[in-house]
Amino acid sequence: MKKPHISRRAKSPRAIKELIRLAIGLAASGSRTEDIFWEDQLGIKINAQLRTGDDQNLETTLDQLYDIDPVGYGEFIYAIEAEIECSVITKENSVYDVLMFAIPILAWSRFSIPSGPVSKAITDNLRIKLQLCVLAKDVKFTLTDYLFSPDQLPRGYHLTHELASKLWMAAVAGEENLHMNPRQLAETGRFLSDTRYLIGAVAVPQGKPMFRWQENNKASQIDSSSIEKSLKQGILHLWQSQGEETLRSLFPGCTLELLLPDGFFSAWRMADRLARPYSMHAAIDFIQSTLNTPASALHAIIAEFRDQWLEEYRISFVFKGRNDVLYGIVWALVGEENENSDTVEQIKIALQECGVIHTTLLGNHFSLEYCDECGAPLFPNPEGEIVHADFPEEIEKSPIHLH
Ligand SMILES: [Zn+2]
Repeated sequence: MKKPHISRRAKSPRAIKELIRLAIGLAASGSRTEDIFWEDQLGIKINAQLRTGDDQNLETTLDQLYDIDPVGYGEFIYAIEAEIECSVITKENSVYDVLMFAIPILAWSRFSIPSGPVSKAITDNLRIKLQLCVLAKDVKFTLTDYLFSPDQLPRGYHLTHELASKLWMAAVAGEENLHMNPRQLAETGRFLSDTRYLIGAVAVPQGKPMFRWQENNKASQIDSSSIEKSLKQGILHLWQSQGEETLRSLFPGCTLELLLPDGFFSAWRMADRLARPYSMHAAIDFIQSTLNTPASALHAIIAEFRDQWLEEYRISFVFKGRNDVLYGIVWALVGEENENSDTVEQIKIALQECGVIHTTLLGNHFSLEYCDECGAPLFPNPEGEIVHADFPEEIEKSPIHLH
């Protein structure tokens, strides 16, 4: 499991001690009843922290738990995310379960991948498709009128919770859209391949299904596990065909892959995972078409990059028998992945799928180094040196970073 990066001095040692006590209690719980006891108390304390408008205590707690109780650390992350993305809201004597969801879209383009405001015509159409393909019957839901780049997602826990709270209220009130002010959002970096997010919230009477795959399906009584998997797969395919049709006009000159809408954090992690092979396909397609060379003429160099722990793999592409790095991509660890995960295997499979057969895994590892001038990550060459990736000159008129 990756260790959190931010480590600051504690703001409130008492609050942190209490959060740690509850997380450890939950991790050691011996029954569902006891789980609920700890979860409820932890939820209340985390919620109080989110309302202070400061993430310091939560981050320090994570940092300390990582060292003393890895299971408690995992439980605590899960509890923070649950508190941020879902809640229960009472309005006019009705009680609603509410959830902030995200719809990830993987995209790549030689030009640029758009972000920013989305027209009412498109959000209206998306609403129809979401209701048709993904959401359970009779849910209330709201969508932001904005296509977010990763840089534009709220930074940190309390800001994410703030956005979720606005979306929940809008969903319960039956408002179709939540307006985002583009001036308050960060600039979008330009990459060959990147992820975009549509964000919304769904509200249902307490205990009712939110998504179609939760609804009662008679067939599921036969073999629940395999049916459930194929049910979700079927919903994904329907959503992709319907949703991509609606989104196409938003993404001129882009190749798209629409992912399944899900709870905010789960959708985010899924997108981070799937974006890695996706960006590899994009990079190799780009190299092949721009340099008019087959993937089989390329040699991929894979190396570990560490800070305190293994953070990511960087993969370079060179012409076979040559040393100059043409391109590089970063394959970052996601969620609970660590040095014991089968990441290198996944990278090799993705390379093979792209037609790159010749690969070398370097035996040594490197520290996370970047170019002093442009900030781009440095990549390994076949001789085991860390260098700047430089695409042949004629292409440099439109510099694009890959990741
Ligand atoms: Zn540079």
